[in-house]
Amino acid sequence: MLELIEFTVTSRCNARCRMCHMWQRRDPDIPLEKIKEVLGSRAVRGSLINLVLTGGEPTLRDDLPEIFRFAFEDLGRLEYATFFTNSLNPRLAQEAAAKIAAYRKQSGRKDVSFSVGLSLDGIGKTHDNVRGVDGAFGRVMENYLGLKALAERGCFDVGFNFTVQRENVLDGGAQAMLEAAEGALFPITFTLVYGKDVFLNRVNIDEWGGQDEAYRREVVRFYEEAARRADSGGLIIDNGTYYRRILSQLKGGPRTLPCLYKEKKACLVDADGSVYLCEVTKDSLAGNIYENNFDEIWNSKQKDSAYAKMLRHCPDCLSSCLGSGRYQLKEVWHSGGMAGIAKLSLGEFRKRMKRISRLMKQYRYAVIPRL
Ligand code: SF4
Ligand code: SF4
Repeated sequence: MLELIEFTVTSRCNARCRMCHMWQRRDPDIPLEKIKEVLGSRAVRGSLINLVLTGGEPTLRDDLPEIFRFAFEDLGRLEYATFFTNSLNPRLAQEAAAKIAAYRKQSGRKDVSFSVGLSLDGIGKTHDNVRGVDGAFGRVMENYLGLKALAERGCFDVGFNFTVQRENVLDGGAQAMLEAAEGALFPITFTLVYGKDVFLNRVNIDEWGGQDEAYRREVVRFYEEAARRADSGGLIIDNGTYYRRILSQLKGGPRTLPCLYKEKKACLVDADGSVYLCEVTKDSLAGNIYENNFDEIWNSKQKDSAYAKMLRHCPDCLSSCLGSGRYQLKEVWHSGGMAGIAKLSLGEFRKRMKRISRLMKQYRYAVIPRL
């Protein structure tokens, strides 16, 4: 059952990010009617829980709120709705968020948690350098403050996504952001850039730089620090599990991170209409919505063979993927099973309950599909 769609609703982008080639593409935007057709298909309509709209820069589409309106009205099982933005045009992002929150209210879907994820890859010049735009950091801050004010009235969440990469690891920017996040207690996730051929329109899976020992050492050091702070409760988004698992993989261990793509519960629809079974490899191409309708693609033989090809990439995949928020909850709750829980001291039990309630809040916060 398909639970999550990551929809690249446009490849147009006003940023020039170093880790992403999406902005070099020239796809026409997928028409609104086509997007509605996908969301309204049999494979999606009755099962979708989580809708993530991304790009390019999704706020460059005037009809972004209309996509959410359709989802609120037509997807009965929907629980999470998110869009990501680079914040380069704070006015567009805030107008879109206000409209989407209003549509959610009008459609009576208070049960759907709506959130906006802001990309933030460093403080000041570090962020500007990664995004390839002077003054980009200031605009993220402006956008955050504007959205926070709106969010209080419109009841939605705002948080940051930090992409850990060469530019912000080697200049100490990632470490500085860890400290700032802990000091200010703002919600942020630190995910490692990885050769996401599909999502970032990359051509080479090694582009993340893992072959360079000096960089790899610094990344390991960063995640050790992030895991320590997450475990001690210093970071509001407690993704210690992700940090620990990525660490053990970086140190040569097997991949243990869960993945909704691998579970066949998620897919990515690209801006050119391609349907991929995972965001990492183009080997996972199952079809194209301009050639076949989504139900045909989802039930096709090509989907099965694409899945088999995709699996070959999984053992070495360093992507944060999707769904580990859920696993984290399971892990905290089930560690040692019921017998283990029964043996806990009262203090430890309380501590664990507190962590679970924090994770519940975190998981409710829908920027988490990236975890
Ligand atoms: S990472 Fe996002 S903001 Fe940056 S160029 Fe790519 S699509 Fe645009
Ligand atoms: S390659 Fe990575 S993202 Fe794709 S299904 Fe495998 S583990 Fe998940």
